[in-house]
Amino acid sequence: MQSLWNDQDAAQYTDDLGLRVYTSRLLGQDPALVLHGGGNTSVKVREPNLFGEEEEILYIKGSGWDLATIERAGFAPVRQTAALRLAQLPTLSDSQMANELRTAMTLAAAPSPSVETILHAALPFKFVDHSHADAVVTITNSTHGRARIEELYGDRVVIIPYVMPGFKLARLVAEIFPAEAHAGTVGMVLLNHGLFTFGDDARLAYERHIELVNEAESYLAAQGAWQIPVPALPADVPPARQELADLRRELSAAAGFPVFLVTHRDEQARAFVNRSDLATVAQQGPATPDHVLRTKRLPMIGRDVAAYVADYTAQFDDYAGRSADDLVMVDPAPRVILDLAFGFCTVGRTLKDAAIAEDIYRHTMEIITRASALDGYKALPADDIFDVEYWELEQAKLRRQPKPAVFTGEIGLVTGAASGIGKACAQALLERGAAVVGLDVAPDIAKTFTSKNFLGLRCDITDADAVDAALDAAVQRFGGLDMVVINAGIFPSSKRIADLDLAEWRRVLDINLTAHVMLLGKVHGLLKAAPGGGRVVTIGSKNVPAPGPGAAAYSASKSALTQMARVTALEWGGDGIRVNVIHPNAVFDTALWTEELLRTRAANYGLTVDEYKRNNVLGVEVTSRAVGEMAAELCGPTFACTTGAQVPLDGGNERVI
Ligand code: ZN
Repeated sequence: MQSLWNDQDAAQYTDDLGLRVYTSRLLGQDPALVLHGGGNTSVKVREPNLFGEEEEILYIKGSGWDLATIERAGFAPVRQTAALRLAQLPTLSDSQMANELRTAMTLAAAPSPSVETILHAALPFKFVDHSHADAVVTITNSTHGRARIEELYGDRVVIIPYVMPGFKLARLVAEIFPAEAHAGTVGMVLLNHGLFTFGDDARLAYERHIELVNEAESYLAAQGAWQIPVPALPADVPPARQELADLRRELSAAAGFPVFLVTHRDEQARAFVNRSDLATVAQQGPATPDHVLRTKRLPMIGRDVAAYVADYTAQFDDYAGRSADDLVMVDPAPRVILDLAFGFCTVGRTLKDAAIAEDIYRHTMEIITRASALDGYKALPADDIFDVEYWELEQAKLRRQPKPAVFTGEIGLVTGAASGIGKACAQALLERGAAVVGLDVAPDIAKTFTSKNFLGLRCDITDADAVDAALDAAVQRFGGLDMVVINAGIFPSSKRIADLDLAEWRRVLDINLTAHVMLLGKVHGLLKAAPGGGRVVTIGSKNVPAPGPGAAAYSASKSALTQMARVTALEWGGDGIRVNVIHPNAVFDTALWTEELLRTRAANYGLTVDEYKRNNVLGVEVTSRAVGEMAAELCGPTFACTTGAQVPLDGGNERVI
């Protein structure tokens, strides 16, 4: 590990808080030091208050801020004397502490100060840097962790045995640190937790941090516990998509809400799940206790969800029985799964949650692998981890959780998603919290949306192999399928029956109808496994109830598609799958319609373009957005009791009404 300090960059910051921002970001941008909100930093500054009196203010990382991207506003200004006084109290609950610290701030609108604020206050240095550095945690989480830290750092660091972060830890540090620190002290190691360094200028505190971590890395390397060779692995066989979807259904049932199940079968993941000692090393616990909130204490090894839930519940009951507080159990579904066939999988209510669990567990796998090469990985006892998982401040957060978007944790698939109605349907599902798989022949389908919840795949839906490959990719990425929007279609140029080109007729039926019959056959099992019941929305056409001359192929294909949807509704109702049809008309904001074409058509009827667009009973313009919203709503709870329905979306058409 090397210092990222750069004189030119640092020169842009002229005051202490500015430099605090700069080196906090240096720490934050290295995932081997800080992951997802972990770690915190502070600086003590003397400032005049409104009365002209000078006060010492502790600027400490505020909660909700990430060190990698923190700004000045991300630091909470806390009066140092108030924080120090709290450290003298014999006991204080963490919610009382949070309240006291908020009321000790000089800026009411600042974020809540870190739970490690009092600890920072207790260290008599201007700049204090704290990380959960992988290399240090690897050593402290090995069988002879403390002895190795002593051997490595000598008396340059003060060692603090593990206690729960928050007031208890601050209190312990306030006791031990002054007694043990001396002029040569450059840092403090919290066993099973992380590293502190400090100094009277920003660069010194930061570079001491890097230096100590670098020494830990070199120590591991010298012990043959840094570069671990990857063993020969068995051939990688992708899991069957139906098995993944079935597992996701079980996980969702255990969680009480739909979850994403993301599979990873890269070399690191496969090497880890293939370890012969997996059942031992992966059942010790997390590398640092705060990880429990993202990964749960233990991963699930294998696929027995019921057994995992039973174990989790039993351990919670046992723990809660000994707790003085009235604890509410969080959902008992695993967040990390290690399975020989499926690889390393992460689970989350949102994809972001699953991605955070992935990041954290990738570091955990590395830490476990290295600590095992040292002399054995050793995590904290289960009770210490439960203390953090069921910490009063975390329990309070649970009570404040906002209601998630309606399709949170669900996955939709839209054919023809690169433009027009298909794109609008994908957007409406994304806006409601779903992940969306967009299929299209358009080359830029992957870039249709920048959201990480969107997977755009180039796919000719008449090609069975291409559709299988797309479904495999989708299920490996998200875990299953809940909603399908049948949209892709072509509209050939107007031709009377007598002049019909049979090859074109067949092509229209192939894409608009037969490809979707094939798709439905392939997704039935996946939709049946949807935790909240599968849903299909078919984009029909006003031409179904009210055809016009010159569009035989299009009208016939959409009519047959509608009939197919009605039969599907009958056949799949018993599987909890709803199938409904939207009949849009005159949706002009699609790639099909140019301004030129609109002018010509409008002129044919003796209308202006605007009159032509609103040529319906309500006199409204029908947009692809309106169709997308309707498609999403048909998938939502309002229509939970509706299947086989056909909904006109045409502004009112006299022939249809
Ligand atoms: Zn910490």
